[in-house]
Amino acid sequence: MEGSGPENIVILICDGMGFNHLYISELVTGEAMGSHSPVVSIGRNEALDNLVTDSAAAATAIFSGVKTITGYLGVNALGEEVNTLADILKEQGWWLGLITNTRYYDATPAALYAHAQRRETEVITDFLMESPLDLFYAGGLEQLGINPFTQKPTPRSRIHELIASGYRVLGLNFKEIGSPEFEELKGTVAFVTMGDKSFENELLPGEPTLLEMVDRAFEVFMTEERSKFLVIEAGRIDDASHVNDSEAVLAEVSAFRDVLSYLLTRLSLDRDLLIVLSDHETGAVAVPYGKPDGDFSLSWSSNGHTAAYVPIIAYGKGSQAFSGFYHLEEIPRKICALLDVIICVE
Ligand SMILES: [Zn+2]
Repeated sequence: MEGSGPENIVILICDGMGFNHLYISELVTGEAMGSHSPVVSIGRNEALDNLVTDSAAAATAIFSGVKTITGYLGVNALGEEVNTLADILKEQGWWLGLITNTRYYDATPAALYAHAQRRETEVITDFLMESPLDLFYAGGLEQLGINPFTQKPTPRSRIHELIASGYRVLGLNFKEIGSPEFEELKGTVAFVTMGDKSFENELLPGEPTLLEMVDRAFEVFMTEERSKFLVIEAGRIDDASHVNDSEAVLAEVSAFRDVLSYLLTRLSLDRDLLIVLSDHETGAVAVPYGKPDGDFSLSWSSNGHTAAYVPIIAYGKGSQAFSGFYHLEEIPRKICALLDVIICVE
């Protein structure tokens, strides 16, 4: 119990990152992956209806420990809501954070706090209002009824509902949109972009990098006394791979490596657990040509996801529990076993 499990847990999800993307991240940064003694493992990720999974079913495995149907998030194959790690750790008194460079209603972030089909954006937004998260940085501000030109709420904007639910809401570039009236601050939601954040090699003026978002969150993370559970999604490796944009992929995997280096510096691995993993591979990317001096090219065989093993890399306290070959659905079970809490999975 006390003292045996990790004090804080950070999960860095690289959406769409297969083993070749990980290798490419070494080529582009010139930095090997082996520092800080990681436990390196191999994950399967198939959904119940398809060997080629999607972010919804994969994230439901990662956060709730159930295999489900593609397109389902936070629900089992029967469409019934399943507990997420956020629900379980909130009950244990943990602080919860979620950062993504995609939209708040995208499948990966949404599977942590919502129970819906991936296309049910309004239902996911309903769950956002009652989410247990203490900190949430994402894109997708326009979905809450913000005029993209003036950046002011439209008359039917749901921003006011979000504020009334107890969130301090920050808009683009972390500018204040509004705070709850009473002293019942539930947490902070920051919408750092309209839609998805731009690819890291095409950032708009003032648009933060993924690392800047993480660094901002760490201002809170480092001062919070409770045990902390932080999920960071490097979500745009997937998008860049869908369109086979090699330059953008190099920029996105570099951004992932920047965040990984940062986390390995800021976390105390004698107390904290860091898990880096992917939900699925996208694009069937390969390196058909390369020289040791750093000259290499990428080839693509798909515009979609592929059925393939995914990397699971654990660092720090409790990392040994993550060794082996297993399905992503084992991740929350392993976390709960380390913390000696029960995960309800039927
Ligand atoms: Zn995708």
